[in-house]
Amino acid sequence: MTRIRPVRGDITEQTVDAVVNAANSSLLGGGGVDGAIHRRGGPEILAECRALRASRYGRGLPTGRAVATTAGRLPARWVIHTVGPVFTPDEDRSELLASCHRESLRVADELGARTVAFPAVSTGVYGWPLEDAARIAVETVRATRTAVEEVRFVLFDERAHQAFAGRLR
Ligand code: ADP
Repeated sequence: MTRIRPVRGDITEQTVDAVVNAANSSLLGGGGVDGAIHRRGGPEILAECRALRASRYGRGLPTGRAVATTAGRLPARWVIHTVGPVFTPDEDRSELLASCHRESLRVADELGARTVAFPAVSTGVYGWPLEDAARIAVETVRATRTAVEEVRFVLFDERAHQAFAGRLR
């Protein structure tokens, strides 16, 4: 059984095996969580992302997929980069958001990670409504078979924390 915990805080400060990054498909960095992870983790992460672009992901990492790099100077062993879907009211992209969580856990299992921290993927610049994103994230983690022992949802602000904590009660 995977323990799922909501935590209010900064994901770059979490001591876990793997930190999930809400990346964009370029893998070359962006704002929000992505910017914070690269700033705190240092240039090693970006160097590995560039190498991934040059080898396996010349066209970028597809939405809903996940790939791991070193965590550089973060207090974690790996960063798992996943690309969340942009929210649109006229197309249901929930399956892609679920896929981000499933794929991140699959990569975590491949790495042998036992503790994994997730941000609220797609709820920032990508505009996904918080309550709905929390529902999809929690339901997907609950339904995924994994050897990960602890999933920590790390929420930056109180509103996001409430949305995830509410789902987990
Ligand atoms: P996306 O492009 O997938 O929407 P963002 O990085 O814009 O990704 O936002 C995802 C979520 O991460 C938002 O809820 C945002 O408030 C939150 N966030 C931003 N910085 C951090 C951080 N350092 N730690 C945890 N969560 C963060």
